[in-house]
Amino acid sequence: MQPAKRLDGIEISLIRQINALATSESLNLGIGEPNIEPDETLRALASRAAEIGSWHYSPNAGSFSLRKKLCERIDFNPKSEICITAGTEEALYAIFQAYVGEGDEVLVPDPGFTAYPTLARLAGGVPVPYSIEPPEWKLEAKAVLSRITSRTKLIVVNSPSNPLGSVVERQTLESIAAAGPLVVSDEIYQQIWYDAPPPSMLGIGRNVVVVNGMSKSHSMTGLRLGWILAREEVMKPIITAHQYIATCASVFSQQLAEMILDAQEWNASWLERVRAQFREQREAALYSIEHELEARIPPPAGAFYAFVPVPSCDTEFLARTLATDIAVLVIPGVAFGKAGEGFMRISYAAPVDIIGVGVERIGRWLRAAGK
Ligand code: PMP
Repeated sequence: MQPAKRLDGIEISLIRQINALATSESLNLGIGEPNIEPDETLRALASRAAEIGSWHYSPNAGSFSLRKKLCERIDFNPKSEICITAGTEEALYAIFQAYVGEGDEVLVPDPGFTAYPTLARLAGGVPVPYSIEPPEWKLEAKAVLSRITSRTKLIVVNSPSNPLGSVVERQTLESIAAAGPLVVSDEIYQQIWYDAPPPSMLGIGRNVVVVNGMSKSHSMTGLRLGWILAREEVMKPIITAHQYIATCASVFSQQLAEMILDAQEWNASWLERVRAQFREQREAALYSIEHELEARIPPPAGAFYAFVPVPSCDTEFLARTLATDIAVLVIPGVAFGKAGEGFMRISYAAPVDIIGVGVERIGRWLRAAGK
């Protein structure tokens, strides 16, 4: 049986391939989700959501009461400018299906999240990488603007960044929005910051689409709850695409999301605790990276990833070898684009002791290999 041509050259992401090498012995620093379990309140909210919530379809764009809550403090119309999705991944897929056609160019960060170039290709488009430079990983507007051509259909921005942990400055976001093409701002790590909340693209321009969700902020990756905010004229085709992908997001997850937003005081303290835990894990990671790998990297401003330079070698081979020889999982930088070669992504969404032992093992292995 021959798969469709659109899947030519498209494989399960390298992140998933490396994670598939995990055994019960592995120290997992490859993980892309919070190492946080729901607390008692969150579990109680989920039980209550199961007790009282509907089991029927919601409107395609999501339950109106949830849309209203998400639009409460922002200037977006809950009737026409928000769509609840089955996670940010589905949100991105719907946006790409709605806007990217044959030969359209999509500007994607390099290094950047693996899904962007793949989603562009699946829609018939051509991913065009724009570079973000080490060691600060500070995005310069001109890196994006210089890539715009008459065929540019979509620009993807991701801040805080997976895999870099860096945040894009407001002025840069404004210059990108002002350039003209449709912009997708992936803000899934917005709540995970260390010194100051990262600037959002919300409301920066009528051509801006913002995606967000509860996967990372509430450790709800398996519940698939995300959303899209865009102006009505931009949103319409996205909702059409979303209808044929998912019909609607899980009504259970929507009900739970609504209860989370209602429990304002608990929610604020939950987010504080999440940030405090990641702050501690970030410190542990930076300490081990400096002492065991002899690499000093600028502290990531958001998300829970450190993008660490490694001695010259094929990093995919290195990550596979580390997984099998010393049972430590990290993601090779090349999984995030050509510019990622020479780096590895260490996720510090792991307990402090696992971070310490895992990075120490990598250091020892590299020294023994003469790297
Ligand atoms: N965007 C980025 C940058 C991510 O890292 C991820 C998850 N790894 C997603 C989107 C997808 O998140 P979800 O579908 O769980 O909302």
